[in-house]
Amino acid sequence: MLHVKSCISRHILVLKQHIHNKSRMATAGFSSKPMVAVVQMTSTSDKNANLQTAGQLIEQADRHGAQMVFLPEAFDIIGSSRQETIDARESLNGPTISAYKQLAKKYNIWLSLGGFHEKPSESDNSTDSRVYNSHIILDSSGDMVDVYRKTHLFDVDIAGGVKLKESEWTIPGQTIGPPVNSPVGKIGLGICYDMRFPEMSLGLRQQGAEILTFPSAFTVTTGMAHWQPILQCRAIENQCYVIAAAQIGQHNTKRSSYGHAMVVDPWGCVIAQCSDTVGLCYAEIDLNYLEKRRREMPVLTHRRHDLYGNIQLKVTVNIDDRESYQFGQHQVSSSHVFYRTPLTYAFVNRKPVLNGHVLISPIRCVARISELDSAEVADLFRVSQHVASVIENHVGTSSATLAVQDGPDAGQTVQHVHVHILPRKPGDFKRNDDVYEKLEEHDKDVEDYEWRLDDDMAKEAAQYRHLFS
Ligand code: AMP
Repeated sequence: MLHVKSCISRHILVLKQHIHNKSRMATAGFSSKPMVAVVQMTSTSDKNANLQTAGQLIEQADRHGAQMVFLPEAFDIIGSSRQETIDARESLNGPTISAYKQLAKKYNIWLSLGGFHEKPSESDNSTDSRVYNSHIILDSSGDMVDVYRKTHLFDVDIAGGVKLKESEWTIPGQTIGPPVNSPVGKIGLGICYDMRFPEMSLGLRQQGAEILTFPSAFTVTTGMAHWQPILQCRAIENQCYVIAAAQIGQHNTKRSSYGHAMVVDPWGCVIAQCSDTVGLCYAEIDLNYLEKRRREMPVLTHRRHDLYGNIQLKVTVNIDDRESYQFGQHQVSSSHVFYRTPLTYAFVNRKPVLNGHVLISPIRCVARISELDSAEVADLFRVSQHVASVIENHVGTSSATLAVQDGPDAGQTVQHVHVHILPRKPGDFKRNDDVYEKLEEHDKDVEDYEWRLDDDMAKEAAQYRHLFS
């Protein structure tokens, strides 16, 4: 009861605060409580009519002071037949997205376009007659900030209920995240059916998401049973805001959607919900409130990765998004790095003991393994395993010495946990364990001219990058 009461009073508070308009927010420099607007609409096969409806709702959201508007899956079209929808597919440079770019620019507003029927580009699956189901983020200048392509496809056959096989017309996406930085917070992108896979939301949360989004076209049968509880679960377990724009009502004679577009806060309260018609609902995103909830109940740090493993999203990170990487007291130029994940990087050695002698370190600089969290430990060894097998293969060996440097008394000269990977060949030392003696000596009392040249190291790293691309 107390919980319901606190949800309601919070909701009233949120509504009261909506009287602040956008210009006031702007003067305050995007106060810590930006407002989002969530769209509920009924797309049909008439693309122009859909665009017009969305345009009117975006204009309304702008007048209301929203910084970002969230549109549902299939905001562009729901054809009366599958073929009609496929025939209407467009590339990301096509007229539909161009029109939305204009709207973003005109209203100086960020847009989440929650599920676009994207035609694969020339270079990518161009012979495939299907589409990507793409969630596009536009910033307030109309620039495309990110595109997420739906990874979980809705292939279901419920007796007497829903029968849909999305994979027949949709190509599954291959990557998830990282979250997008926006004026309303860090947004983890999903689409509809993705909400049923808690690992995906957890992965996004671990990557820093403050908001999870599931723009949807939920069927009525599944919506009645699952929509709200799933959205609340994802919000509670990840301590994130969950924003779910939705399709509603009858799209054609064969298809209708559940609606109930809503925003759930990190405590699980539904703080905004659309009426049973086309329209908008609004909510403030209060990141101080989110931080307070996370501080009071730090569920993420209470996870027992040692008992049930760790979720690790397959994220593509750009090695060169920074100039250099800290390696204890040294800086390693990004041109010497050949592989990285969000937590770990691999780089060539300045004084290799053997051909292919490379190093792996956690991105966060700590001296001891005991100071790493379980996700960092798992990633360090996963990367070590992967790099060792690729470099071994490249050098033509079938063995490797992996030596972890963990603290000064064990011979660690660089105070940053690192794993030496040394591909081994028969007879490369008189006795196998001489390798440890070499490791002890190779970088001691070295004159400057004895270190390898930066250019040589960059060449070696460039060669290895190819092996990992
Ligand atoms: P240890 O002496 O076992 O702590 O290992 C340190 C390793 O780091 C040695 O193999 C050095 O050759 C290597 N090293 C030191 N500085 C750099 C650097 N800036 N770039 C690449 N490797 C380095």
